[in-house]
Amino acid sequence: MNPRTLHKITYGMYIICSKKDDSYNGQIANAVIQVTAEPRTIAIAVNRDNLTHEYILQSGVFTVSVMDIDCDMKLIGKFGFKSGRNIDKFEGIDYKIGQTGVPIVLNHALAFIEAKVIDKIDIHTHTIFFGEVVDAEILNEDDVMTYSYYHLVKGGKSPKNAPTYIAEQTLKEQPRKEVNLKKYECNVCGYIYDPAVGDEESGIPAGTLFEDLPDDWVCPVCGAGKEEFSLFH
Ligand code: FE
Repeated sequence: MNPRTLHKITYGMYIICSKKDDSYNGQIANAVIQVTAEPRTIAIAVNRDNLTHEYILQSGVFTVSVMDIDCDMKLIGKFGFKSGRNIDKFEGIDYKIGQTGVPIVLNHALAFIEAKVIDKIDIHTHTIFFGEVVDAEILNEDDVMTYSYYHLVKGGKSPKNAPTYIAEQTLKEQPRKEVNLKKYECNVCGYIYDPAVGDEESGIPAGTLFEDLPDDWVCPVCGAGKEEFSLFH
């Protein structure tokens, strides 16, 4: 079986938010689908270890921001690879409070949906929440970021808590194209620095060797320093 096959299923990139009492939290999700048209119902899959999961269980409401194609890795890193147990994810974030009382992330959002939980199913590591849509608006007509675009163009990885996560060892067993330039992988989040691509968002041009990155360069996804990187085989 080739585990990469499941990457052929199309997804988007979303930030799902919820609240618990006066606290807010949010996380990246790729699994959001519309289930029924009348009444409008959506489903989201959330890892049971995530803080957002606890918040949705408690408040019974959540919002979904649909990410645009220009969404930067820092935003994805903040909401996808860090925990609200350690940082306030909303610091420096542009958001508004929706009808449900839950924040809606506006950075790189082209649309948002607000929903009230009407049912849920526990599936192994994740809970699928079914939500009746209580509000939904389009903010602009930018292109959406698909999950495959995130993987192929942005070099993004799946965090361990994502439903689409594939153990790195499994991926490494798959054949890869030969490259001359050495790639380095972030030990924290799995981001791979590819010298053939560089790191445009941090002003690093294509062709820059990892060894030549400035000392203060950090992982564009999770913010880890160069010392957290190891050679990618
Ligand atoms: Fe990282």
